[in-house]
Amino acid sequence: MNSPVRAFNAVGGTPRFIRSASGAWLTDVDGNEYVDLICSWGPMLLGHAHPEVQARVAEAIARGTSYGAPTEPEVELAEEIAARAPVERVRFVSSGTEATMSAIRLARGFTGRDVVVKFAGCYHGHVDALLASAGSGLATFAVPGTPGVPASSTELTLVLPYNDRAAVERVFAEYADRIACLITEAAPGNMGVVPPEAGFNRFLAETCARHGALFVSDEVMTGFRASRQGQWGLDGAVEGWRPDLMTFGKVMGGGFPAAAFGGRADVMSRLAPEGPVYQAGTLSGNPIATTAGLATLRLATDEVYAHLDRAADTIKVAASDALTRAGVAHVVQSTGTMFSIFFTPGVDGRVRDFDDASTTDSAAYAAFFHAMLDAGVYLPPSAYEAWFLSAAHDDRAVSTVLDALPGAARAAA
Ligand code: PLP
Repeated sequence: MNSPVRAFNAVGGTPRFIRSASGAWLTDVDGNEYVDLICSWGPMLLGHAHPEVQARVAEAIARGTSYGAPTEPEVELAEEIAARAPVERVRFVSSGTEATMSAIRLARGFTGRDVVVKFAGCYHGHVDALLASAGSGLATFAVPGTPGVPASSTELTLVLPYNDRAAVERVFAEYADRIACLITEAAPGNMGVVPPEAGFNRFLAETCARHGALFVSDEVMTGFRASRQGQWGLDGAVEGWRPDLMTFGKVMGGGFPAAAFGGRADVMSRLAPEGPVYQAGTLSGNPIATTAGLATLRLATDEVYAHLDRAADTIKVAASDALTRAGVAHVVQSTGTMFSIFFTPGVDGRVRDFDDASTTDSAAYAAFFHAMLDAGVYLPPSAYEAWFLSAAHDDRAVSTVLDALPGAARAAA
């Protein structure tokens, strides 16, 4: 396996090797079928092997797979992204990790400052400076979150508790003129779904603006997934503010390696070759990946998001009922069409930061996960993940999930 959580390390047991996928269903190499509630960890918004996306990709492959020169699909995909999210310019890369890494370099290059602020429980890919854990005090620099990251890589990173305005104010009071940017998941999904409290993202944007730091909103997971306009469509578009920089991935690649960062034209123009901040990539804006992303976004209509909302609601309500009946403490949280179920009573019935999320009963989740898997439902093999649906999750797929829930809830009790 090539990415740790796929190994079932958090839930135990043997990972399934997948042979093929179609619509809402995965088929493993032994011929077993599963309703897929991972959707490749987010990208497959339309479901697997969507005929129109497949057709556009097949046509693109027939024209060659990579040219190392500008192409039309890159421009069209950038325009499609800019029509949904508040970015004036877009640069493509091949993974969400590259997008956040590049956004941070650009923020540092633009501001001439070094310090980066992030939140505990927010994952921004495996960038050295962002694989950081909080240091000994709230307003002190971070320590590496994994062996292999030198202390020097995290000594300019500050890690704060999510949804905590006072902590943000404290670090800006102390380090204001050194902070290049604050980066946050637009709505965290990597500690389970922990929505920003009302006005929290606006508060972050305003605090950054007041202190000359850039506000970097990481929408790799939420982008074109939480809503048609991502998480920004649920708060910024309504409240009237925009991030300085944004990062995207997953859905915008339509199942291929494509990601992007973008934002204010005056900031983006500092990138090479126009500006001095270096950034590049052999396969950036690859024609197959951008064609798949473009086809996916063009097919992701309001009806798709309305369908995702309905299917998510049906599953959330049924899961919560089943767990309540089995006496399993849990908290259901969502933002737009993205949701997750925490196997903990939470704090006052909520999970608002990583400490709260860490009270999850991982053993109960593991029992639930395996009972669901045995009943033909493939959930994320970790208690700290969002559950992802697609436009292809029809009545048959949703019924399979509903039928599996009561038994799995009893297994978790
Ligand atoms: N940012 C967020 C919010 C993510 O969820 C992820 C991946 O899950 C990343 C960045 C990193 O993306 P990638 O795995 O494509 O490098």
